[in-house]
Amino acid sequence: MAARAGIVVTGTEVLTGRVRDRNGPWLSDRLLELGVELAHITICGDRPEDMTAQLAFMREQGVDLVITSGGLGPTADDLTIEMVAEFSGRQLSLDEDLEERIADILRPLMKRFRHLDFDAVRAANRKQALVPEGAHVIYPAGTAPGLVVPGKPTIVVLPGPPRELHAMWPEAVETEAFQEAIGGRTSYEQQTLRLFGMPESEIAETLRVAEAEVEGFDELEITTCLRRAEVEVVTRWEPAAQPAWDAVRALIAERHERSLFSTDGSSVDDQVAELLAGRWVAVAESCTGGLMAARLTERPGSSAHVAGGVVGYSNEAKASLLGVGPALIERHGAVSLEVAEVMADGALARFEADTAVAITGVAGPGGGTEAKPVGYVCWAAKLADGSKLVRDARLPGDRAEVRDRSTTVGMHLLRRVLRGEDFEI
Ligand code: ATP
Ligand code: MG
Repeated sequence: MAARAGIVVTGTEVLTGRVRDRNGPWLSDRLLELGVELAHITICGDRPEDMTAQLAFMREQGVDLVITSGGLGPTADDLTIEMVAEFSGRQLSLDEDLEERIADILRPLMKRFRHLDFDAVRAANRKQALVPEGAHVIYPAGTAPGLVVPGKPTIVVLPGPPRELHAMWPEAVETEAFQEAIGGRTSYEQQTLRLFGMPESEIAETLRVAEAEVEGFDELEITTCLRRAEVEVVTRWEPAAQPAWDAVRALIAERHERSLFSTDGSSVDDQVAELLAGRWVAVAESCTGGLMAARLTERPGSSAHVAGGVVGYSNEAKASLLGVGPALIERHGAVSLEVAEVMADGALARFEADTAVAITGVAGPGGGTEAKPVGYVCWAAKLADGSKLVRDARLPGDRAEVRDRSTTVGMHLLRRVLRGEDFEI
């Protein structure tokens, strides 16, 4: 059996949603890499009783390892160390070496804030040099030191600011107490498959078939989820179950040949970025208000392949910037396959690009008609050599989802036109 862990995220700002928790998901990824099974992530505020309650819950669950984030600062509401010491029945004592290290870190900061009294600040920070007996101290990335406190469970105490937490994690993993706590671990393999252009129910059906046909199916931990209009299948298995996973993966590939676009963890954005190397892409969009151009330029360095984009809502803008004639709009409507294609042509010409993607749609609310309801979107992806994919679809969801999904479809059309594929999506 794999070692099990729990994460306790603390901080009233996180509990209330003012700050979005970034430490829980990050630690979750690291634990997965180590083959440690994550049982729970809990979030509590800065009240000491609440933190103790969560530590007690984790112990009750029998986890081998608990990781806490936050509450290591010098202020009175930063109580994690005290709580952890009490919880693990260890006395706090002053670590003079650590106190000196913190003072060294503070001295240059103090020079910038001359009105502060160094001794007063140092007294406040003495609190941060209190260490539970027998704990391993991780020297600070900021001013707050972290801890690894051996026991059942072993407790790893890390600061709240994500950058500091990341910096201190490797040392925490290397400690004897940490390694001992996860000693019973089994190594896991993991693979992510991504599919596009099919409902989640279809993968569910495939997995039912697999369950009936594939020996050892029960050894696989398969989760599926719908993300940004794509279906993601994440599977974990122990090495012995490799043949079972090979068989299930082959079945998925066979039944969903056209939809399966990633088996190596890459996203459609990664793949499009790669396909755009040496090319020059332009965007024309209306209902997505610039989101398509933003998505294409999201990764560092990607703008080297993006000529630019036009966001055209009014007919005048579509006409003057993209060459979409009023007569065309009159005849087919602003949201139509014909207009999408001419928008793509306009973007190619306007930016002297060799690749273009255009989106026009009804993102709602209001503005929909019976023939073209809210969620009705048209796309065109075109290359300078004339190859093209022109599609329409009715996307589900509210306005934000329609806009986001429109960019996902735009990405997939680009991917397919660049790969020279031309099947229905
Ligand atoms: P400090 O010495 O900075 O007070 P700390 O360990 O006491 O460190 P907290 O007071 O809990 O940390 O949080 C400090 C800041 O770090 C928060 O205001 C927030 O901006 C950020 N932070 C804390 N926890 C998280 C989290 N789980 N996800 C993202 N950011 C966080
Ligand atoms: Mg704090």
